Amino acid sequence: MRVEGKTFEAAMARLLSLLSFSSRLLESEGAGLFAVDSDCRYMFWNPVMELITGKTAAEVLGKHAYDVLPFLRHTGEDAYIDRSLAGEFVSSKGHRYTVPETQREGYYDGYYLPIKGEEGAVIGAAAVIRDITQRHLSEGQLRETESRFRNMADVAPVLLWMAETDSLCTFFNQTWLDFTGRSLEEEWGVGWAEGIYFEDFQKCMDTYIAAFNSRRVFEMEYRLRRRDGEYRWILDRGTPRYSPNGDFAGYIGSCVDISDRKQLESKLIKAVRDRDDFLSIASHELRTPLTTLQLEIESLMRSLEKRPEMALASGRLAQNATVANTQTSRLITLVDELLDVSRVASGRLEIHPAELDLCELVNEIVQRLRAALEVAGCPLELAMHAKAIGVWDKIRIEQVVTNLLSNAIKYGAGQPIELRVTAEQGTACLRVTDHGIGIAPHDQLRIFQRFERAASTSNYGGFGLGLWISREIVAAHGGSIQVESAPGAGATFILKLPLRIS
Ligand code: ADP
Repeated sequence: MRVEGKTFEAAMARLLSLLSFSSRLLESEGAGLFAVDSDCRYMFWNPVMELITGKTAAEVLGKHAYDVLPFLRHTGEDAYIDRSLAGEFVSSKGHRYTVPETQREGYYDGYYLPIKGEEGAVIGAAAVIRDITQRHLSEGQLRETESRFRNMADVAPVLLWMAETDSLCTFFNQTWLDFTGRSLEEEWGVGWAEGIYFEDFQKCMDTYIAAFNSRRVFEMEYRLRRRDGEYRWILDRGTPRYSPNGDFAGYIGSCVDISDRKQLESKLIKAVRDRDDFLSIASHELRTPLTTLQLEIESLMRSLEKRPEMALASGRLAQNATVANTQTSRLITLVDELLDVSRVASGRLEIHPAELDLCELVNEIVQRLRAALEVAGCPLELAMHAKAIGVWDKIRIEQVVTNLLSNAIKYGAGQPIELRVTAEQGTACLRVTDHGIGIAPHDQLRIFQRFERAASTSNYGGFGLGLWISREIVAAHGGSIQVESAPGAGATFILKLPLRIS
């Protein structure tokens, strides 16, 4: 209902001039301003409203709000206008609008206030409209960029984290959460550090804080608990982040599981150490017979220079030659062992099987080592079947048996040695028993590995290769080699060979 009269017109004129004044202020910041009378007919429409809706003041003034802009009803905006006409201050946020005639679309915020007459009655409503289309779109883009980043981060095969300027972590990708089996809430802030292995914790924190304070790129390695409870080695690389205006915004970091690499690294380090140890043992081992050989040859030359007939007659020459020959054989054995290492390592160990009797072979070897058994003071007890005929590589099996018997002499000097050969159920079995220093249970598997030795280097020479090579030879024949022993109680090596290689 319109209130007519002079007072009303004067009040209206004052109101319109007030609205024009406010409009100029609002226009400068791109805000629209309109006013409706108590019948909801437009009575004020500023130029920014024209820009927003595409409707001119001439097109809207005096017309009913919802007739001019029907979308106000569809968006529920009519309720806000009605409420302000009822005397309320109300606002609407982020509403979408479409002006069908102009195809104009966008988003706006609206602030509605009642206009009151001198008696305090509501005579209309004014509204300030801000077109927030641009802001809405860029926020949308930002949201989209962020969700794209999260999607990418979550499927990345690396563990990702992000920290704010206060060094507290506020983001962990799904890969991280899957790895630790914890929730974002549990990892949030410094929660993630609970999973660090206690020994690595301090160093890790020191690196992290120092890098943060100096805004440096950092790299650290630590053990992190995986969801199954296993600690895995992690390589964590952190890089400072900066906002578009160059302000420090925190850190982003990526982590990879390097446990397998670490394991390989330590294996390589051990292999290099083993090789160095081996080189020093090998040079020492080769040096010993060489020195003896040299002494014998020098003695031989001196005898030949001075009185060769006497040296010959006294048997001195023959003795020199025998020792020189023994040392040469020792050298050949050592060099052969070294050659076997490369053969076995490169899979070039060849087996040439032929029929042979293990009992006969053992007898031959015993004859060859008779002198060594005597020197070492080892009486030999031999127990053999009449025959143990199989198809094997004679040279290689000879090498294995010689190695077992030589070890028994070396590590069981001064004590008896027993050799037993049996052949039953398709398998030939040789047991070599000594009563020497024996082998501790924890060393019994290890000694079959390359370069592994259990006896003291200063008391017993050797490369730590004989048993390894023997095991490879026996394996190539489809057989096995084992030891039964206790420290100080001697050792029994049991060699089993199938009579025929399958
Ligand atoms: P090497 O005798 O040259 O060291 P081997 O491979 O033949 O190399 O033996 C490996 C290790 O096994 C030896 O260093 C020794 O510690 C242990 N071993 C081998 N045979 C015996 C044995 N009969 N009694 C005690 N220890 C033995």
